Amino acid sequence: MNTDDRRDWSEREAERDRIRLRRLRMAMLAWAVSLFITGAAWALGLLRSSYLEMGILLALVLVSLLFFHVALRSGWSKRFRDPSMTLAHILVATLVALWVISKAGEARTLLLMLFILAVLFGTFQLRQRGFMIVTLVAVSGYTAIVVRDIATGQIATSTELVVLELAGFATMMVWLAWFGSYISRLRRTLSRRNRELHEATARLQHLAEHDELTGLPNRRRLIARLEAAAQKSSRDGSGFCIAVLDLDRFKLVNDHHGHQAGDDVLSEFARRATSVLRGADWLVRVDDTVADIGRFGGEEFLAILPDTDLSGAGLAAERLRKAMADQPFTTCDGPIECTVSIGLAEHQPGEGIHRTIARADEALYAAKSGGRNRVKTA
Ligand code: GH3
Ligand code: MG
Ligand code: MG
Repeated sequence: MNTDDRRDWSEREAERDRIRLRRLRMAMLAWAVSLFITGAAWALGLLRSSYLEMGILLALVLVSLLFFHVALRSGWSKRFRDPSMTLAHILVATLVALWVISKAGEARTLLLMLFILAVLFGTFQLRQRGFMIVTLVAVSGYTAIVVRDIATGQIATSTELVVLELAGFATMMVWLAWFGSYISRLRRTLSRRNRELHEATARLQHLAEHDELTGLPNRRRLIARLEAAAQKSSRDGSGFCIAVLDLDRFKLVNDHHGHQAGDDVLSEFARRATSVLRGADWLVRVDDTVADIGRFGGEEFLAILPDTDLSGAGLAAERLRKAMADQPFTTCDGPIECTVSIGLAEHQPGEGIHRTIARADEALYAAKSGGRNRVKTA
């Protein structure tokens, strides 16, 4: 993963965290409404439960909500495939709803609606298996309650109605589960397509801005970086230098060793230059002003040396020159000696970057006419 990818990834992860927290807040709101309805039913005498039971219920709900909140906030829940812990959360809601319903007489049908609320949250994350588990727990729990009521003769209405209610409830839950799996499948497909599109765009952008042979930034990207550096410089007064590098007598390399060997020299030149610039820690920054080198065209390269004046840039350029001259290049046609001439220019405040490049080019010309394999300053 390179720096850009890592930044993209952590931005997407932060966005996912925000979405999870927003969903958790929505779930909290649903809990508040459900607890209010339950409390109202109890206050109206529609629930057969004591103060103590209601207190325990409330405490258990609050503790589990606190648990989900802390697990998500602290990042602890990231160890699970679904860091929202949707299934666990919905199962808690289902068990609470079952308990409340087991205590309710005539208010039961109303309280059944709480199930719908709980299951609806599953459409965010649950897969088919999760929906099946919730449906199974809800329907078997409700069946157990109905059987208990019939066995103990605690039925407020008629047995037929209670059984019919159970059948209706089971049908609705199965339908909800099917519908929810369908929506969550759609959602996952959509987010996968989104991700693929994002990756394809990033790949295309990389291709449009990098040179195929050396993998270095191409002219388009270099110009964009230079414009950015010039803007930054006019904002905060930071200076930067440009180095134009041209391989010496490269036509001869092609003529004597073939085009492929020439390509090999260019690739190794790019690797050496990058490692010299990246290795110079006084030049490397973590933001966009990192010392960068790109292929400006043919056998000509351009380096941006940020936050430095001509003396600092001269040191960097000299290291680059030496890195090429000291060691022959390994190619398909054996080792090849090749040197580089470098022209340096410091960007002047308010100066257009093409003007700075032209001055560096003039310095390069001076380096060539001065005998090549040397650094000249504008
Ligand atoms: P000088 O020292 O004056 O720069 O001499 P030179 O021979 O390097 O000068 P010139 O700019 O005339 O030649 C550059 C050569 O670089 C010409 C071209 O064939 C070659 N070249 C440009 N791009 C590539 C490439 O991608 N691969 C290879 N193998 N050669 C390339
Ligand atoms: Mg050349
Ligand atoms: Mg040239």
